[in-house]
Amino acid sequence: MDEFNDVVDLISEFLGQPKKIYEHQSQVSWNCPVCDEDNNKGNLEVNIEKSVFHCWSCGDSEDTHGPLGKLFDLFGTKQQKKIYYILKPENFTPVEKILPKLRLPDNFTLFRDSNPRYPVYQQAYSYLKNRGITDDIIEKYGIGFCDKGNHFGRIVIPSYDKNGVLNYYIARSWDPHTKAKYKNPESEKDKIIFNENLIDWDKDIFLVEGAFDSVFLPNSIPMLGKHMSDLLFETLYEKATGNITICLDSDAWADSVKLFHNLNGGGLYGRVKIIKITGDSDVADLRGNINDYYYEMR
Ligand SMILES: [Zn+2]
Repeated sequence: MDEFNDVVDLISEFLGQPKKIYEHQSQVSWNCPVCDEDNNKGNLEVNIEKSVFHCWSCGDSEDTHGPLGKLFDLFGTKQQKKIYYILKPENFTPVEKILPKLRLPDNFTLFRDSNPRYPVYQQAYSYLKNRGITDDIIEKYGIGFCDKGNHFGRIVIPSYDKNGVLNYYIARSWDPHTKAKYKNPESEKDKIIFNENLIDWDKDIFLVEGAFDSVFLPNSIPMLGKHMSDLLFETLYEKATGNITICLDSDAWADSVKLFHNLNGGGLYGRVKIIKITGDSDVADLRGNINDYYYEMR
């Protein structure tokens, strides 16, 4: 594909000749402008298709890794970065196209389509009430439950991509004695942005761990864990124009700090904020009331 060679040429304008090109893997390496010192090692590796780069030698110590846009911030010009975003078509990032078509679990039922006197409805509904989830939240996120089948006894929070196509779901058991708390689909969760259709990239964004946290904070993105996917990193870097607040669980302080330093660079510099939740709680336990927990990073 032509975009590949165009992007390689563009990066070569400021990094020099590439050392190795593996077009099939969409992988190219250059000498790292930070640590190579004429050793010609080719340690700086770029994946054009995934839009990420990493120096295998100084990536962690010098922060020479991340979304490709950051490489342009560090070593290229504004003009080159602009050209890069023009060259990079929307479908260049392999998001929707490689995923098999996902469906909601069998017997998924919306609360509004069920009978409030049905015992399974009542179990599901009281689980949500105990977690502070209101009728408005249930409605807004299209939360439902399964009353039969292999997802029986689970609350389901669906996720839709920016075109409104289902791209993931969380299926959480309401039985406290269950062996598997979650039974989520096999699709790769780092290839999607949870409920991307609800995100306004021009407003302040909150990063949380789970879908049950995200329903309490407007314009929040669940990372579905403590680590951020390359896709989310790149998308934030490219699109977020407001502040970004990291709101991970209280047991994830080290991950939060690491994420803060990864994000707080280039075009995002000075716009990243962090929450330090104390005790054994998370955004969902706090019902989204995080204002007392902002932490000043230096
Ligand atoms: Zn390096």
